[in-house]
Amino acid sequence: MQKLGHWINGQMVDGTSGRFADVYNPATGEVQAQVALATKAELDDAVAKAAEAQKAWGATNPQKRGRVMMALVGLLNRDMDKLAEALSREHGKTIPDAKGDVQRGLEVIEYCIGAAQMMKGEFTDSAGPGIDMYSMRQPLGVVASITPFNFPAMIPLWGMGPALAAGNAMILKPSERDPSVPLMLAELCKEAGLPDGVLQVVNGDKDSVDAILDNETVQGVAFVGSTPIAHYIYSRATANGKRAQCFGGAKNHMIIMPDADIEQAADALIGAGFGAAGERCMAISVAVPVGNETADKLRDALVPRIEKLKVAPYTDGDDVDYGPVVTAAAKENILRLINSGVEQGADLVVDSRDFKLQGYEDGFFVGPHLFDNVTTDMDIYKQEIFGPVLSMVRAENYEEAIGHAMDHEYGNGTAIFTRDGDTARDFANRINIGMVGINVPIPVPLAYHTFGGWKKSGFGDLNQHGPDAFKFYTRTKTVTQRWPSGIKEGGEFNFKAMD
Ligand code: NAD
Repeated sequence: MQKLGHWINGQMVDGTSGRFADVYNPATGEVQAQVALATKAELDDAVAKAAEAQKAWGATNPQKRGRVMMALVGLLNRDMDKLAEALSREHGKTIPDAKGDVQRGLEVIEYCIGAAQMMKGEFTDSAGPGIDMYSMRQPLGVVASITPFNFPAMIPLWGMGPALAAGNAMILKPSERDPSVPLMLAELCKEAGLPDGVLQVVNGDKDSVDAILDNETVQGVAFVGSTPIAHYIYSRATANGKRAQCFGGAKNHMIIMPDADIEQAADALIGAGFGAAGERCMAISVAVPVGNETADKLRDALVPRIEKLKVAPYTDGDDVDYGPVVTAAAKENILRLINSGVEQGADLVVDSRDFKLQGYEDGFFVGPHLFDNVTTDMDIYKQEIFGPVLSMVRAENYEEAIGHAMDHEYGNGTAIFTRDGDTARDFANRINIGMVGINVPIPVPLAYHTFGGWKKSGFGDLNQHGPDAFKFYTRTKTVTQRWPSGIKEGGEFNFKAMD
């Protein structure tokens, strides 16, 4: 059995806790590796070493740090196939999806090549007689990033890029469900020229997360995962005086107006609802057609498309639409929620509850499901299912539709499909959700904008990537300087000259 340890001071080391988590091949249900779960002592040791390494790295000029990012972009491109294969093997997503996972992470590293520009401060000449004032951005020191299973390349890279480019050292605590790719990324960082110790990958579970939250050297914590854990980490990290940004779960609504191109909307919903088996925080899980005529047309367009979806392991080729979900527990939870939807009175229009894939009976596959006539009091509406399940909530008019999206406790992403500019503009202005698509179902901002949800989808003030990330990973220091020459009188400083 393959054993995965930690990446400390530029090399793989075995775990010492004697505790391991199973890493599955979700397509077959077999345990393919075991990952070590770090103790508090291991975590504290990794932080102490990172703090030592950060001193020189933080003093390196930002242009040089940008060059490490540039080299990393080259290496990620070089190893794209290898990374995608490892990612699909542990996560279950298709190869094109896995490459997208790496690519969207790579784009943030590309953005971080410009670290020197992002680290620039401000300068005021002659704020008083002989007085200048300037601000500078300085790294926090040691920061930590705690990441989810669903984007094992993208989310670690979103944290590592700006944190390291800004001169911090980082403790990366990846998901214990698919830890191989984060370890591979650490190796690539070393090859790109990152000094040993500046990036430490510590594998683990709640014990190591709590150790991060209580470690006094760790100055900032970035978290991405489910809402209850995001809230817990935000509360404990900030109570301990750390800077924190914690991103949580989602229930993304897509509103389909009567004037929308229904075929285009249905195509968009198939990709956004079922791609990556619905295991995306930006997946559309609720379709809100406005008017019964729109709803009926949409349902008629969706059903044949859903029935054609090819659900299979990534090894079956590029025509696979989506693969298994990540664990048996995830599958059970999805099926439990689907059953609750039926019990609570929703119409299960496409029912794949007995879906089995020949030769992969022990794999964690879940067939695609479509619910109609879902109401807002049902568990399938209120909870994040994180599986291949699309719910249709019919709305009588635009106000009711936008009201549903606004009243939901999550506020990660949303979309509207319409041909009417006024409606689209009103929607974008009024909606209380962080990322908005207009005829775009998954509006994930590019690297130079920022990514983050509102309401219970995000705790903290600054978003991921873009300019916000450099603000999150730096502190501003403002210096007021006065040089005596020119204002000296009789050997004394002339304080009056400052008036
Ligand atoms: P998760 O919350 O179970 O785990 C995330 C991380 O937290 C992992 O590293 C895990 O080891 C750690 N963790 C788990 N339980 C913990 C506990 N009790 N105490 C301390 N740490 C703990 O999330 P997941 O299942 O890996 O990922 C899926 C979730 O992430 C979904 O809710 C999805 O919407 C969300 N997500 C959000 C975004 C976003 O940007 N908002 C992006 C991707 C995923």
